[in-house]
Amino acid sequence: MKRVAILGSTGSIGRQTLEVISWHRDKFKVALLAASSNVELLARQAESFGPQKAVILEEDKAPFLASSVGDKAEIGVGLRGLEEAVASVEMDLMVAAMVGIGSLPAVLAALKAGKTVALANKELLVTAGPLVTRTARMGGATLLPVDSEHSAIFQCLEGRNLQEVDRIILTASGGPFRHLSWEEMARVTPEEALRHPTWEMGPKVTVDSATLMNKGLEVIEARHLFDVPYERIEVVIHPQSLVHGLVRFVDGSLLAHLGPADMRLPIQYALSWPERWSSPVRPLDLTAVGMLEFYPPDLQRFPCLDLALRAGRAGGTYPAVLTAADEVGVEYFLKKLLPITHIPLLVERVLEEHQPLPGNTLDEILAAYSWGKKRAEEIVQILIRR
Ligand code: MG
Repeated sequence: MKRVAILGSTGSIGRQTLEVISWHRDKFKVALLAASSNVELLARQAESFGPQKAVILEEDKAPFLASSVGDKAEIGVGLRGLEEAVASVEMDLMVAAMVGIGSLPAVLAALKAGKTVALANKELLVTAGPLVTRTARMGGATLLPVDSEHSAIFQCLEGRNLQEVDRIILTASGGPFRHLSWEEMARVTPEEALRHPTWEMGPKVTVDSATLMNKGLEVIEARHLFDVPYERIEVVIHPQSLVHGLVRFVDGSLLAHLGPADMRLPIQYALSWPERWSSPVRPLDLTAVGMLEFYPPDLQRFPCLDLALRAGRAGGTYPAVLTAADEVGVEYFLKKLLPITHIPLLVERVLEEHQPLPGNTLDEILAAYSWGKKRAEEIVQILIRR
């Protein structure tokens, strides 16, 4: 039995992880569940999966959790409680799916202890890529991708020699606005942005998919996860979202990974790895698909992709600031206070003002991230008043 900890169990990935676990109940023991704020769902999950420990980050919600879970699970509170839980609960695999970078110390602690970590939260690798991969290496820990594109590429690379790899190719659906002009995009609503054409995901990543920021973050993620330089990573728009990733080898051969656009597949592969198990997900019917399209991304209409690539190449604390500013932009867009087209303007302005540091330590990264948040908040206030 694999003992699993899920950080972010009430979010989209966390819920689907528990669904996959419920398909294979005999193979898993849920050891730890942690959520930021959705305490009702966390309590229900604790009820049905019986973890040793349940952690809620928002402290005022702890009494509710304690009263509903009773003595069936130990209760932890706040980020401190999460770190304590990760140190004390016996686990074989951690699924890191909490939004934001609050869980970074807990994930680093798991890597230091040599645990296998399935990374669903791309912010961790984007903001702290070198630190995360170095900690994993030193701890003898394994990092497994959950993001569909990275899972695809991971599967194409399995058993291969990195020297033989010429290009890593990430596909992007292009989001719901891929046909809109800049002017049309300036008028889109959060409701329209949240209607993703092919994937069902949480609100932050869905908006990031509509601006292509998500793909930029994924390039940075791929750079660290696969240790491949930026010059060898490419993005291709592929509206059908059926080819999830490709690897081109030095002889010109391409290996592609195809499958239905269903996050439960990459989640299950991270849980079952190095094995592959059967699943109830309906397989892809190629003859029903008919056509697959590929075209280059338009960096003019989707400047967020370009900003992310530039921040990634600049390195240091730039990606942490990029992440922070984007989070603020997406938050205000979802509150209908900022047009979606202002997100890249905001991110660019914050990046320009940033005084970068090497970003080799957790403190440097967290400081850059909170500076980015604070500065983005200030600039948003100016943009709103204009
Ligand atoms: Mg993805």
